[in-house]
Formats: sequence, structure tokens, C-alpha cells
Amino acid sequence: MHTPPGNLARTRFEAEAHTYYDTKRNDALNLDLGHTDGYYHHHFAVGDFDRSILTFTGRARQQAIATELHRMETRQVDVIVDALTPLDSRARVLDAGSGRGGTALLLHHAFGCHVDGVNFSTYQNTFARLQADKHGCADTVRFHDRNMVDTGFADASFDAVVTNESTMYVDLHEAFTEFARVLKPGGRYTLTTWCRNEAIAPHSREAEAIDRHYRCHTHRRAGYLRALLDAGLIPYQVDDLTSRAIPYWELRHESELASGIETAYLTGYQSGRVNYIRITSRKAEL
Ligand code: SAM
Repeated sequence: MHTPPGNLARTRFEAEAHTYYDTKRNDALNLDLGHTDGYYHHHFAVGDFDRSILTFTGRARQQAIATELHRMETRQVDVIVDALTPLDSRARVLDAGSGRGGTALLLHHAFGCHVDGVNFSTYQNTFARLQADKHGCADTVRFHDRNMVDTGFADASFDAVVTNESTMYVDLHEAFTEFARVLKPGGRYTLTTWCRNEAIAPHSREAEAIDRHYRCHTHRRAGYLRALLDAGLIPYQVDDLTSRAIPYWELRHESELASGIETAYLTGYQSGRVNYIRITSRKAEL
């Protein structure tokens, strides 16, 4: 296993996730496939795709699919932007589990705000810093080699916290307690994630396949609400985006870059055993 620096990864589970992201150099779906916008994503998408591209053949078809997948991933960040709107340009935002920086950069471009990305992958942080530099915002969008459950930031130092598909790597109580600690009173936390829908099926073969594939742990839907409330984060907007998450997987299934996990997401979402959700919470004022 790849050895993480210091104590960034504290458990075997964290060390495996760290290895997965820190050594993932050639994830074809995230390579620069002709897009030059400098936004690199390790998350999926909601919304429909341009179905006319499926009439293309050969290379043109595959190029069009790759471009469309990237466009959809970029637009997915709007789900978080919408939840945080309005946000002052002087606001400070924590992006926990910040990947290669796409979400943090798009949040900065939407609001002009300061963003601190936290990631235990030094490789991804180095990559993300380079993108911030290319976008000319390296002084306001910064990336830190830290564990998101122990960020080291001061109490009440952030106006907002976001996690874009990264909570499947943490203990929710531990992470949400940390997010509540660093949030100012009245500050907001928005998350997007897939989860198990225990109301339909306590166990889901799709979630198990996803967990094996991404070395993660797909939490239960109710587990999110419980852990938020226990941490003093009051959910005020809960959105089930499951049906809107399906087209992305249909398109990825058509891609030469498909990784084999597409069917698990598709059948998980179509059956309702797996959900895709956004939850926005506010830290209690007192
Ligand atoms: N949010 C990013 C995005 O939307 O592109 C990345 C999402 S990716 C599925 C999960 C990210 O969380 C990876 O960058 C991984 O290194 C990071 N991560 C997982 N567990 C972590 C932890 N305990 N502390 C810090 N980063 C973590």
C-alpha cells in the first residue's frame, strides 16, 4: 500500500482510499480529453445529455461522449452553487475532500469567494494548485494536505462547507462534528452524495459493488440526517436527485472509458435502492 505522509490517513480504510486517489494518475475519464477549461472532476453528474451525439459513430462518437460527460460534471457543481446562493465574495468556503480542484475553482468563479480545499492526497493537491495557478486565483483558492475530519482550521472560521461526493470516505459523525466546529454560527453546509435507501432495501448489491470499486462506504440515507442533527447542523433543504442522476450513467455506459461500475449505479438508481441526494444544513446560531 502507498504510504501517506505523517498521519493524514489514520486507519486501514483511510489508507486504502488514500492509495486509490494518490496513485490514480491515468483515470481515463478524468484525463484532458480535448477540454481545456482546467476543471478536473472526481464526481459524477445530474441532468440530461445531448442525445443527438448517440447518432455519431466511431471516433467522433467517443469524443462527443467524453466532451459531454465533462460538460455534465462541470454543470453538476451548479447544484452546490444554487444551494449556497447568495454568498458574499468575502465569504470563506471549505471544500472537504477536494479532489483535483474542480469544485473549489468553480465555487470561486461563481461567488468570487475564498476557498480552502482539504484533501489527504498530496498528488491531487499538487495538481489542484497548478490549476488554481492557471486560473489566476492561487491566492484565493488554496489546497491543503489534511484529513477532512481533523482540518486544523480555527473554530468558526468558515461561512460555508461543501462536500462533493466525498462523505463516503468518512465516519459521518466525526466529519460533521469537524464541519460544525469550523463553521461560523449560521454558516451553511451543503453535501452531494449517493447513499443507500434503507426504506427500500437495507442491503443493496449495487452499493456493495460501488464500495468495492471505489474503496468507500456508502452510508444510509437516514444516517446523513441523524449525523447532521447530532453535530448541531440543522438540515433545511433535502433534495432527492436520483432520477436526474441516471442519464449520466446511461451515457457513461456508452463510453469507451466506462470502468465497469456503470451498471451498479444505473440499477441502483433505477430500483431506488441507491439514491443521489443534496442536503443543505445550517449551523445553529447558539
Ligand atoms: N470533491 C472532489 C470532486 O468533486 O471532484 C473529489 C471527490 S472524490 C470521489 C473523493 C475525494 O476525497 C478524493 O480527493 C480523496 O482523496 C478525498 N478524501 C477521502 N477521504 C478523505 C479524508 N479523510 N480527508 C481528506 N480527503 C479525503
